[in-house]
Amino acid sequence: MKIAILSRNKDLYSTRRTVEAAEQRGHEAYVLDVLKCYMDITSHRPAIYHKGEKLEGFDSLIPRIGASVTRYGTAVLRQFEMMGVYPINESVAITRSRDKLRSLQLLSRKGVGLPVTGFAHSISDTNELIKLVGGTPLVIKLIEGTQGRGVVLAETKKAAESVIDAFRELDANFIVQEFIKEAGGSDIRCFVLGDKVIAAMQRTAAEGEFRSNLHRGGSAQIVKLTKEERATAVQAARVMGLNMAGVDILRSNRGPLVMEVNSSPGLEGIEKATGKDIANMVIEFIEKNAKPYKTKTRGKG
Ligand code: ADP
Ligand code: MG
Repeated sequence: MKIAILSRNKDLYSTRRTVEAAEQRGHEAYVLDVLKCYMDITSHRPAIYHKGEKLEGFDSLIPRIGASVTRYGTAVLRQFEMMGVYPINESVAITRSRDKLRSLQLLSRKGVGLPVTGFAHSISDTNELIKLVGGTPLVIKLIEGTQGRGVVLAETKKAAESVIDAFRELDANFIVQEFIKEAGGSDIRCFVLGDKVIAAMQRTAAEGEFRSNLHRGGSAQIVKLTKEERATAVQAARVMGLNMAGVDILRSNRGPLVMEVNSSPGLEGIEKATGKDIANMVIEFIEKNAKPYKTKTRGKG
């Protein structure tokens, strides 16, 4: 197969490993920088050019679109979809997953366990919002943050009010969420591929920190999931429409709660923590599933 990997940097661990695995399994792999792609959307025959070269003959693609280029990146992906190229994750699903509020709404509609979460626009609702999530301590999150940036723990009502007011002042979109204290600064990353969790790790926050992101100094260990956790992760990915997803779960007193669903889950942390060849499994999945014009939402949304 001829496989495209949409990534801004071929030296990133996840990109490098994906290319390696594709080549090892006898495929041709090309790393395409979405920002260097331009599209012909005027004719009935959609085309894409990359650094001046017309892209042709691709069978499948693995989007690894950074959060900062979601809009343009998903437009390029949509163009590939119109050309019939099979993406492991579709543009519509990626767009959904990038908006925390929209994701939580989709998940709640299908009954997936979630932390109690509030969202409001008007200033006068600050107190109501705080009450809605059960008071402090609570977590405040910017809707489009990643890697723990824009996630704040407010331990007192005063702190919560000042942060909420400050975010409002900046016109930022945010959600207010119940703080799951019993998770103890840990969360679980489930790597979902198709209808299976193929690897999982527990991430634990560094001393004095509640965010377990590896980018924030968190550490990772292998973890054994319960049946319920597995089922929750697989359901969350399915609801979002993602074939490949990193589903983050908090272990709470009332069972697994989904915190977020990531459409470009990194390979480095999870391959190192579990010793599994995830990149190889991703390519294998594509071999089994790639067919021309197979996307459900081709060119839509
Ligand atoms: P990001 O997209 O920036 O990674 P997350 O929602 O994943 O944002 O939050 C970052 C980290 O903060 C999580 O990995 C988790 O350790 C911690 N955290 C987030 N929300 C909660 C919560 N409601 N209760 C307890 N810890 C949380
Ligand atoms: Mg996270």
